[in-house]
Order: sequence, then C-alpha cells, then structure tokens
Amino acid sequence: MKYKKESLLIILIGCFLWLPVFAEKKVEGPTTRDMNLMNWQEFQRFVPEQIESVLLPVGSIEPHGVMPSGTDSLAPEVMAREIALRLNALIAPTLNYGVTPAMQAYPGAVSITEEAYSPFIKNILKGLADNRFINIIILNGHGGNTAFLQKAAAEISNLCRVRILVVNWWALTSEVTQEVFGEDGGHAGNNETAYIQAVYPEHIHPEWFDREMATPNAKGSAWYAVPVPSSILLYEKGQGYPTFDKKQADQYFQKVNKRVAELIEDIIRKWDKAKLYR
Ligand SMILES: [Zn+2]
Repeated sequence: MKYKKESLLIILIGCFLWLPVFAEKKVEGPTTRDMNLMNWQEFQRFVPEQIESVLLPVGSIEPHGVMPSGTDSLAPEVMAREIALRLNALIAPTLNYGVTPAMQAYPGAVSITEEAYSPFIKNILKGLADNRFINIIILNGHGGNTAFLQKAAAEISNLCRVRILVVNWWALTSEVTQEVFGEDGGHAGNNETAYIQAVYPEHIHPEWFDREMATPNAKGSAWYAVPVPSSILLYEKGQGYPTFDKKQADQYFQKVNKRVAELIEDIIRKWDKAKLYR
C-alpha cells in the first residue's frame, strides 16, 4: 500500500515537470517570418494577436559603383531578416523597383514613374493595414522613393488608422558611418558598399573601381544633371569612397542593424504610450 502511494507521488511530480514544456509550446513563434513562405492559416493564427508589426523592404534597381544594381532593395531585405525576430515582426515581400529617372540611362537600370509608383505603394500599405497589422515599418533603401513613401504613409495612416514608419537607413545611420569609417558616406560609397559586402562579398568588385567613378553631391541648387554623371555620389567632397575592408564591413553591418532596430523599437514604444490606434 505504501509503495503504491509513493508511485502515485512520483507520477504526479513527473506530470508537473512536464508542464513547462507544454506551456512553452503555447508561446512558440511562427514557422517563418517571411509572408511569402507563410500559409494563410498560420498568418490568421498570429496576426494581429501575437504579431503586430510588419517590415516592408523597398528599393530600386540602378547603378551602384562596383556593387550590385539591386543594392537598394538587397540591403533593406537583409536588414529585415536580421531584425524581424527582435521586433517580433513579419517580413512583407520586397518592392524591388523604385523611382530613379536620373539614373535610368545606365545599363540595367529600370525607373518607375511617380504616377505608377505612388498608387502602387499605397495599395500595398492599405493591403497590409487590411490584414490588421498595427505597425507597418517601411525599410527604404533608395532616396528617390522617400518623398512618395512619406506621402503614401501619411495618406494611408490617416485613412486606415494604422501606424506607419518610413526608415531611410543610410540617413538614419550617418553617425554609425562616421563612427566606423571616420567620415561621411555616399551613394554606393563606403556605407552601402560595406553593408552589401558583409552579406554578398562575391558581388563586390574592387578590381573595377577607380576614384574617378565618384562625384561629390551638388551643394543645394549648385547643379543638376540628368543622367547623373556617376553612380558613386559622395555626400561630402573627398569623403565616402568605398574601403572594401571585409572586417570593417561586418562591423558596420552589425551596428547599422542595431541602430535601425533601436529606432523602430523606440517609435513603437512611443506610439503605444500615446495609445494611438489601439
Ligand atoms: Zn543605393
């Protein structure tokens, strides 16, 4: 009789020991963060009850010095993958095409008109809002898109009562660029080249580079040229040339991702604090 009681106790303890395992199963994340790979039933299970945010990478296809023409969408796409888990966000399919009329003349470039781009991006934002995301984070890699993204963000946020943040990563991280390279960056300069070199080193071609491929940006309204005279554009004269240093690239990559994630966390925290669209 005594033996049986002890067995019962052991069984009971055994059951309690298993509890955390079952409890843990309940809070397991989705099988993927990529909306392209996620099944609709799983999406329904997680959004918005457990996942409130979506990252939307947008870019352009245009010349970038001695690096890939898709840099402006490759960078935010990789960034989204790097920070999605930390932000508990899903990743929407990348919009690879953007507005780049001044670079259209270069081989391999494709520019979308404002008349086509603006309604298209608004439809994407509305679609994500209809899917009940509370925070839509646009990770933008291309300066030519910025004005249209901001306009679309304002319109759709007010229309659909959804929070939208546009992050222009190269501008946000200018302090990181200063910290890592000791100088300012540029279009296809040290900053963008390093970020891509950290992930796709085989597609960076230092052997094709010469300093004459770079032009300092115009100061204010000093000049404007179409096509732009070179695909490397330095934010400051004499600064921002690519360094092609893999170690520096890896360091820059980590610091940029951290800075972008911190900004997004901060903005969402402030939205929550203000109880907007809750
Ligand atoms: Zn770029």
